[in-house]
Amino acid sequence: MSLLQNKDDLKELVDKLNFKEKIDRSLTLIKEAYQEYGDGLVLANSLGKDSVAVWDLTKKVSSKIRGFIITTRFKPKETIQFMKEEVIRYPELKIFKNDAEIPGKLYQTDPDRCCYFLKVLPTRWAVEQMKIKCWITGLRCTEGRTRTDFKEVEERDEGLIKLNPILIWKEREVWQYLSLNNVKVNPLYAKGYRSLGCEPCSMITSGGDERAGRWTGTSKCGGECGIHTRPLKVNMDGDGI
Ligand code: SF4
Repeated sequence: MSLLQNKDDLKELVDKLNFKEKIDRSLTLIKEAYQEYGDGLVLANSLGKDSVAVWDLTKKVSSKIRGFIITTRFKPKETIQFMKEEVIRYPELKIFKNDAEIPGKLYQTDPDRCCYFLKVLPTRWAVEQMKIKCWITGLRCTEGRTRTDFKEVEERDEGLIKLNPILIWKEREVWQYLSLNNVKVNPLYAKGYRSLGCEPCSMITSGGDERAGRWTGTSKCGGECGIHTRPLKVNMDGDGI
């Protein structure tokens, strides 16, 4: 049976598979998806460590696989600079951004709504404009409380498959892969961040889970921006948030 149809117990595989077996499994998932979806297979690159690891794996399968980056007016300058360098290295990465006016400090008063405008809507635009049939993400099930129940292959939106090829990798294995493959990473990691997002919503934390520094002090703490939880194939103006 192809790995795309697997019903494996992923929580068990997190500890059962070794580093090399996990890389092989990830590459097989990407290869099978590329055979199935061809140019409709596209990677969502957040410019975080997990994304650049999966991007590197993807390039090992085919240099032709495209990607998209969602950026916002609130991304740290280091991330913007890293994005510019990545796009020069990989012109097949397309940038999407929502420049529409939103209420000031919406990230404080209503971070869900802020993420919806600045992250979810542009992701929908990417799905539509790039004619994506299957998107690849860097989600991992050990990242935090909101990421424990994903599958390697999902269809949350009808007609849009999501592939999470490094779902069972641990944080240490991601760094191991990046180091062994000389993959360039966002310089903010050198300052102590473990999970990167927009500047007002990302903090350096110690202890806790990897995403504990995201939206600290709000009900969204350690949570999600919405691109993994909200529908992506709806009308392009919104779904009534
Ligand atoms: S992470 Fe923060 S600033 Fe960025 S879109 Fe979400 S709420 Fe807004």
